[in-house]
Amino acid sequence: MLRVKSEFMAADLRYRRVLLKVSGEALMGEREYGLDPAMIARIADEIQTVHELGVELCLVIGGGNIFRGVPAAAVGIERGSADYMGMLATVINSLAVQSELERRRISTRVQSAISMQAVCEPYIRRRALRHLEKGRVVIFAAGTGNPFFTTDTAAALRASEMGCDALLKATKVDGVYDADPNRVAGAKRFERLGYLEILSRDLRVMDASAISLARENHIPILVFSIFENGGFAKVVRGRGRYTIINRKSELHTG
Ligand code: UDP
Repeated sequence: MLRVKSEFMAADLRYRRVLLKVSGEALMGEREYGLDPAMIARIADEIQTVHELGVELCLVIGGGNIFRGVPAAAVGIERGSADYMGMLATVINSLAVQSELERRRISTRVQSAISMQAVCEPYIRRRALRHLEKGRVVIFAAGTGNPFFTTDTAAALRASEMGCDALLKATKVDGVYDADPNRVAGAKRFERLGYLEILSRDLRVMDASAISLARENHIPILVFSIFENGGFAKVVRGRGRYTIINRKSELHTG
């Protein structure tokens, strides 16, 4: 019965394997630092709904709620070390999200780009693929494992390696705007954009290396609000409000 139900629902899906990128800041809620359990629970609700639809799910969580390399380097910590500290922050966040998902009996694995065998699995591409096939949510921690990168780039990289149909970027607003809509009245919202337009207009949705990687590997990026109830589930069905960034839009926007 359950199988029939999920097969029925699977037919309704536009994307069957996706990577969701959540920034560390989203986990802060209204706080100035660290983790807000209510916010983690909200994000877990969204993930649970999509998981129940039968979507194969990868997650990349940022670390900006705890530590960011660039500002730390500006106040004197050597940049390489500062970036490793940032990557460790993503591991903390990944474990927090894993714990909340497993409380809901969703099977998950954290794989870290920096080996820490007492804490989680190391990143092994083929093993991660197997987890996905088995319906486990795979959380990719520690970014790319390299300083001078961001978790956006890690998201584009892992989405490419996992053969994801789409990279979903969860934000505070329902798409890409030409200015911050919370600050600038009349900011223009885009329904669709080409990858190159993001770069040429410096729209700062994701950093340039993430955009380039997604473009090279033909992975559409969908930008949507994680604050809308059920927003994630709508996006995987191609419904709801989001901005889509893909090659097709490059032809439209020329
Ligand atoms: N980081 C890194 N390499 C990576 C990913 C992340 O060095 O591949 C470091 C970098 O210092 C970054 C920090 O980890 O500032 C936290 O990640 P990010 O800023 O991407 O988190 P978010 O903004 O998504 O919360």
